[in-house]
Amino acid sequence: MNKWRHPRAIESEYVRSLRKIARELRHQVNEQLIPEISRIHDMAKGRDDAVEEGDQDDTSWSGILAAILLAILGSVKRSPSYIVVIGIPAASNEAMGGNTTPKSVESILGNTPSNGRAGDSIAEYADRVNVFNLRQMKRAIKAEYGNDEEYAQRESLAGLLKAWERENLSLIRSIPDDYVTRLQGSITRAVNQGMDVRELRDLIKSTYDQPDHRAQLIAEDQIGKLNANLTRYRQQKAGVREYKWRGVLDNRERYVHKEREGRTFKWKEPPYDGHPGQPIRCRCWAEPVWPDRDNVKLN
Ligand SMILES: [Zn+2]
Repeated sequence: MNKWRHPRAIESEYVRSLRKIARELRHQVNEQLIPEISRIHDMAKGRDDAVEEGDQDDTSWSGILAAILLAILGSVKRSPSYIVVIGIPAASNEAMGGNTTPKSVESILGNTPSNGRAGDSIAEYADRVNVFNLRQMKRAIKAEYGNDEEYAQRESLAGLLKAWERENLSLIRSIPDDYVTRLQGSITRAVNQGMDVRELRDLIKSTYDQPDHRAQLIAEDQIGKLNANLTRYRQQKAGVREYKWRGVLDNRERYVHKEREGRTFKWKEPPYDGHPGQPIRCRCWAEPVWPDRDNVKLN
């Protein structure tokens, strides 16, 4: 069996890139929010009525909290670890919340992947997974039809790659955005419940691992999904209609996926949770059932 490999090394690098953003976020909370907690707490104690929803004029404690959290978001989104991944040059980086497209997206929209350069932007990660996947496809073709077949991709992958980049852009933005929103909610509840300053600080620090876990999950899941989608795309374009489900068969693999081992599925009829590699963090892969030589479309 010719194994269709998982882009393990690219995945670890993407994990590392996204975890840097999570680390920056934690750093900024520690620098900008923690020192202000006792002031916020004192202000809250000075008033009898609990804060109401939407009551955020900037002299209230909740207004100050909101301003600090906004400043934290700004610092994270201006930091090198964030900008490198999002892929926009610092100079033109004014409207951070806008619909910015990764800088080098245009460079990878051609028919064949470029050079798989080792950059750290979303677009460059997409490019690297694409190059990796193409290599798997060529290897599989060689194993099936011999060495003389030249595989050329027939259609552009632009749409597929761009969709992935767009989704990753919004997932990465959501790491700081969602964390800060949740933090604001839990601080507000804690203050209204009369929590003391030390408990409040501990509460904030107990959330420090959340963005890190989220970054890791996003990175692992997204690299696997992109690889799986490229595999499906390439196999279908080559005329492959069916595949055999293959898993890694370790403790982490889902029971239902182990049960599918070696069974044949049609690309047009996915199982309820998707093709191999599409369910969250799934590391399964599709072994192509090649058509006979006359029906395969390699170039
Ligand atoms: Zn699986």
